[in-house]
Amino acid sequence: MDAYQSLITHWRETSLLSSCAALLGWDERTYMPRAGSAHRAKQMALLARMTHERLTDPRIGDWLSQLEGATDSAEQAANVREIGRTHRRAVRVPARLVEELARVTTQAQEVWVEARAAADFRRFLPWLDRIVALKREEAEALGNTAHPYDALLEEYEPGSSSDAIERLFRALARELAPFAAKLFDAPRQPNESILRREFPVADQERFGRAVAEAMGFDFQAGRLDVTTHPFCSGIGPGDCRLTTRYDPNHFSSGFFGILHECGHGIYEQNLPREHFGTPLGTACSLGIHESQSRLWENFVGRSPEFWQHYFPKAQDAFPSLRDVRLEDFVLAVNRVGRTFIRVEADEVTYNLHIVLRFELEKNLIQGDLSPGDVPDAWNQRFHELLGVRPPNDREGCLQDIHWSFGGIGYFPTYALGNLYAAQFMEAARRDLGEAELAEDFRQGRFNRLREWLVSRIHRQGQLYRAEELCRQVTGADLNHQPFMRYLRGKYSRLYGVLPD
Ligand code: ZN
Repeated sequence: MDAYQSLITHWRETSLLSSCAALLGWDERTYMPRAGSAHRAKQMALLARMTHERLTDPRIGDWLSQLEGATDSAEQAANVREIGRTHRRAVRVPARLVEELARVTTQAQEVWVEARAAADFRRFLPWLDRIVALKREEAEALGNTAHPYDALLEEYEPGSSSDAIERLFRALARELAPFAAKLFDAPRQPNESILRREFPVADQERFGRAVAEAMGFDFQAGRLDVTTHPFCSGIGPGDCRLTTRYDPNHFSSGFFGILHECGHGIYEQNLPREHFGTPLGTACSLGIHESQSRLWENFVGRSPEFWQHYFPKAQDAFPSLRDVRLEDFVLAVNRVGRTFIRVEADEVTYNLHIVLRFELEKNLIQGDLSPGDVPDAWNQRFHELLGVRPPNDREGCLQDIHWSFGGIGYFPTYALGNLYAAQFMEAARRDLGEAELAEDFRQGRFNRLREWLVSRIHRQGQLYRAEELCRQVTGADLNHQPFMRYLRGKYSRLYGVLPD
């Protein structure tokens, strides 16, 4: 076998092994009995060790050195590029550091749960201190970047840099913060209580499934189950698992949760299956993944046109909505507010929550912010961006799990997802016709949009890095303007304010 075939065969088997871990992880978060957790932890640790051994196999280095700069096609070059990236990252971080990080973050997550419940940052501080120190060590081991933070970012958004993200986020926040403030004070405000009526769980599930199916999620090749913290897991070709949670007295959390995960799921289901187990059959980046979930959740699922089709159906499904007018419902599902909690934030303010986290974690890793100063820095910046100060650290810097599991560098991908989604939607409107696409939504038809996304984004796998994919699809570098145009167009109309 030649070097390329050997490399790909080895990599496919490694992916099969990780997909076993993914399936066990799905089970752990959905159906596993509580008492099984100690045994499951052992299974997961063994699979993680076996996967790591395969990722760091010295033969990979030999194959890569024969192949780099000597591949036959753009497809082969992409596989070699991305396998090389993953292999080198795995090799550079010493086993001692990997184990130390695993040990510390497992305990830190438990402490974080208690600290958050008690709104007591001081309890979590020694652990945050330790995690930041270890992540700085990891960044140094990974090396090769202008800023240590970039080495961590690379895990989630290959090819991106903190300088580029900082420029993008600065430009965005400068326009977004004043626009959000204008909506907070707009004379027209939603009546959100119409979403807090009775929505029986079985009806929510039926309704959500029907919409996910109409959008193009294939239930012959996927499932929808219930969990505490919703996620989507692509196990492999023909098997993609969505999860959600239902609140019988709140419409939005279940329904938009399903649309969000369904967006991730449609991406996973349309990756080229012939390339499964190689970078060409893998999602481009977390930012691009998030663009697909946000696109279906917000750009489609919160659009007035979508509800022209689905609101009468929702009224059939939920008698509690029968006295509600369409325009009041649309305004309610697009409520904009000064929310302290990121996961409850609306699509206007959401990115401000991310800008704040990006700035703080970058400064932590660069050593410009000491962990003990996080609460003050958080509250001050939150006030600058959203005009209010969190009442306590539970609703401030302790709210997210990410830092406790060592996920520093993850947050920016959420905002990148929103910006990519806006830029992709502008391109889709250009290609498919703005009026025609709006009419599609009014008729509950999503196939043209989905097929456009499949051919331009999903089928590409990791052929291009995210930035290049964006240029290929939209003809421009990622920038904040499509997102701001989208918000101004939609929300100025909904809230009856002038779009500056
Ligand atoms: Zn998501």
